[in-house]
Amino acid sequence: MSCKTILAKEISASFREEIKATIKSRGIKPKLVGFLANEDPAAIKYAESTSKTCEETGVIFELRKCNREQLEDLIVEANEDDSVHGIMVYYPVFGDRQDQYLQNVVSVSKDVEGLCHKYIYNMYHNNRFLDEKQTKKCIIPCTPLAIVKVLEYIGVYNPVLPYGDRLHGRIITIINRSEIVGRPLAALLANDGGKVYSVDINNIQEFHRGTGLRLRKHEVQDTNLKLEDILPLSDVVITGVPTPSYKVPTALLRDGAVTINFSAFKNFEDNVKEKASIYVPAVGKVTIAMLERNLLRLYDYRSF
Ligand code: NAD
Repeated sequence: MSCKTILAKEISASFREEIKATIKSRGIKPKLVGFLANEDPAAIKYAESTSKTCEETGVIFELRKCNREQLEDLIVEANEDDSVHGIMVYYPVFGDRQDQYLQNVVSVSKDVEGLCHKYIYNMYHNNRFLDEKQTKKCIIPCTPLAIVKVLEYIGVYNPVLPYGDRLHGRIITIINRSEIVGRPLAALLANDGGKVYSVDINNIQEFHRGTGLRLRKHEVQDTNLKLEDILPLSDVVITGVPTPSYKVPTALLRDGAVTINFSAFKNFEDNVKEKASIYVPAVGKVTIAMLERNLLRLYDYRSF
């Protein structure tokens, strides 16, 4: 077996070092406030890891636990507080459209998660900057951005190609189409030139920029394809199915495929390393590094 397992800790190390060095050399005190309004064990664990990483890198992190009915007013208060530079909310709070509303209550200038309408719209439309002079890059949602960084680290992005086209020729399957991770990730990778098969419980869609990347931004097509059609073609398979019983059949993977799991559960079979060239079992630590990177960006954009 020549498969290499690559851990999120290794991938995130250079980002964490850079953030730490920036904060120290500039003598700044960026402050992130996290709102926890649920008892979800995954959210609590995420909050604990955020706190630990922030402490290591020099970011001030304040976890504010509250009742979900108080949350909106508390977000507004933090929006108006000049000592707070970034705000995040541990979802789900209500688990329905009200969560989408809350994502838009967070000020654009403090939205470290990149989940407000402006950032999501710019991402889907492949608008990469906030200003005409192209000095301020848009904030990208943390987990999709973390997976982009994982793909760059592994070398799936081809640095010889121009920025924005570096996935040209790559076929990528993403098994998850949630609004928080899977759909934005499919759009980002297709905007970067990849041909992406986006799988959810109901169907498979194709995200792409057309032959020769003729389109400026990705388009989406419904397909009648099945997992057994697309897995053998895929250079990269990314999974995020939130159930312990779900497993991608190793037999269907292309020999030498890159395999990445972001689900809290192992979505690949135990024998995945017999077929894959690279296996990334989790991405959580890279997500937190991206959260801090977004925070530093927003700290510097404060005047807008
Ligand atoms: P979600 O429930 O919103 O979405 C799940 C997605 O999986 C949906 O698109 C659904 O259609 C699809 N799905 C479910 N069963 C399927 C099946 N049998 N075949 C194909 N598709 C199927 O969940 P989410 O918020 O996207 O989170 C998914 C997982 O990722 C969770 O385990 C969560 O803890 C984890 N997660 C990790 C990070 C991180 O940074 N590590 C961040 C966010 C979420």
